[in-house]
Amino acid sequence: MIIFKQAKPLNHYLEQEQKAGKKIGFVPTMGALHQGHLSLVSAARTDNTLTVCSIFVNPTQFNNAEDFKHYPVTVEKDLEQLVKAGCDILFLPGVKEIYPPGQPKKTYDLGLLENILEGSYRPGHFQGVCQVVDRLLDIIHPDNLYMGQKDFQQCMVVKKLLELAGKGNRIRLNILPTVRENGGLAMSSRNLRLNTSEKKLALSIFEELSLIQKEFPHQSISSLKHLAEEHLREKGFSVDYVEIASARDLHAPVQPGEPAVALIAASIGKIRLIDNLVLN
Ligand code: AMP
Repeated sequence: MIIFKQAKPLNHYLEQEQKAGKKIGFVPTMGALHQGHLSLVSAARTDNTLTVCSIFVNPTQFNNAEDFKHYPVTVEKDLEQLVKAGCDILFLPGVKEIYPPGQPKKTYDLGLLENILEGSYRPGHFQGVCQVVDRLLDIIHPDNLYMGQKDFQQCMVVKKLLELAGKGNRIRLNILPTVRENGGLAMSSRNLRLNTSEKKLALSIFEELSLIQKEFPHQSISSLKHLAEEHLREKGFSVDYVEIASARDLHAPVQPGEPAVALIAASIGKIRLIDNLVLN
């Protein structure tokens, strides 16, 4: 695996490879890698001739300074995992490579997506996501981009970004299923911050999503939401939202017959977790 820390040499290298006929698959991450990330690398390897992964803890997408400060960093272990997974190139930039000093930060018209669910609880988060993904795509020029359904709204935001930035016909966005631990907890870098009993408790989020999925045909949306919220609060979670929305555009309430997704964001102490399940 070749490691690049600077944007220009990476851009130049990939340009040559693309001219030579290589097809590039790209997996952007913030590191602290787990099987969820590695499933994206594996898909990129299957579909492409060159797999590029990036690790960059993007400051502009953190609306909470404490969360940024405590975001897990495990670079040595990440490198080992990427080599084992067969990743060809790792981009490991510093902040100045992604946000060159003096360059104004772009803003993106994300419409409804910016202000609902994650957008409403994490102001500015999706602008930050767009800034980093837009910049990474300009450096890497992939044919295929790989993201996880675990971050359902983020996938929609990036789809919109590709349209807004005129990249949608050049870059294919591939959304891969959420990888879960035994018991159903969605793998997440933030799980590293949970102790054993908190990890056990965190399973309740998937249990509530599964209950909503089972009962969706039989109960009203409002009672399903209410029940899940109540269960989580009783167990000690602080609940930001339980929503059942259109899986096409996250409009809520979902209309009868439309594909639906249930989404939960809840915190155990200071650790905020999100998960979702498509219902039909
Ligand atoms: P992150 O490092 O959290 O920014 O995630 C990088 C990419 O990995 C994003 O596209 C995530 O949606 C994806 N991802 C994170 N967790 C999982 C998971 N459990 N299963 C599948 N993809 C995931």
